[in-house]
Amino acid sequence: MTSADQASAGAGERRYAPPGRTSPQLDFPPIRNGIDYLVSVVERLDENTSVVDDRDLKYAVLHLQAAAEVLLKARLQLEHWSLVFKDPGTATRKAFDSADFESCGTVAAVDRLRDIAGLAFDKKETDALKELAKDRNALQHYGLTHSARAVEARAGRVLDFLMRFLEDDLLPLLSSREQGRAARDMVTVSEGVRNISSYVKRRLDRLRGELRGHESLTVQCPDCEQMTLVLVPGGGTCHFCGASWSSDASLASDFLDVLNAEGLVQCPQCDEYDVVEGLVFADDPIASDTVFCLSCTARYTSAELTSCAGCLRWWPIEADDGGPIAPLCPGCRAQAEPEDGV
Ligand SMILES: [Zn+2]
Ligand SMILES: [Zn+2]
Ligand SMILES: [Zn+2]
Repeated sequence: MTSADQASAGAGERRYAPPGRTSPQLDFPPIRNGIDYLVSVVERLDENTSVVDDRDLKYAVLHLQAAAEVLLKARLQLEHWSLVFKDPGTATRKAFDSADFESCGTVAAVDRLRDIAGLAFDKKETDALKELAKDRNALQHYGLTHSARAVEARAGRVLDFLMRFLEDDLLPLLSSREQGRAARDMVTVSEGVRNISSYVKRRLDRLRGELRGHESLTVQCPDCEQMTLVLVPGGGTCHFCGASWSSDASLASDFLDVLNAEGLVQCPQCDEYDVVEGLVFADDPIASDTVFCLSCTARYTSAELTSCAGCLRWWPIEADDGGPIAPLCPGCRAQAEPEDGV
């Protein structure tokens, strides 16, 4: 019997459906288990709740290593159950079902995911994982020997990697019911990681590439307060915390709260009452005299605009205005000169 035969004979509902070909239909407890370890990690490293001491760091590293192992193997198992054996050539379904076998380590799991499942890992990610495995072994045998800061920084890198891995390579393969449950479990993790400085730094470094080219539409997120919210017409998504706004109204009310602003004004470009003043953008972090339309993303500085003498709405100062002291918007101009040409 080939391993493919075994898979089709015995795997049943565990069979892995490659993304894009069939809809994912998996019910998969190991992922909940992995996320549970992550919850413990963020609780230990959260600098807002208490000072991170050596004991916190020790358990954070141990649980992070456990999370890595569980999550990487979960993905490997979705590819084929025999791949979590240290030696897949000796794998039997009976040993797998009774969990009575020696399994592969995290480094081998990453190699197999790359070589067999075709997943992409960058070298920094795999290096961080190797370093963490060393830290874990050292901690178990000798206690904390390295500087706590360095260990914490490495833990932050692995945490960042596992969050990305879950998001990109694991959760999309689950059934929608399992995805919903994982999303709920992840809320604690996502909230906790915002208070972990090593994680925050690493993640912002990585996001810098992702956000490049969008600086003129990137502002501070009202939820996580990082400069990582990329605006689009009528909404936006924060690349740091994943918060997303699908209507200009919900975004406007959050911005008005943050800016302590009164209300919205009318956009010179699209005419919607959707303009906020004073947003700070990533491409010009010291300018706070911006005028921005959440509906059409038109952006001005207040020096580029003036109030219409008729209706007081913002209106762009045009070069060929020839310097009227009180310019009019086209609407008011049409009303002011109805008899023209008569
Ligand atoms: Zn955010
Ligand atoms: Zn507009
Ligand atoms: Zn006007």
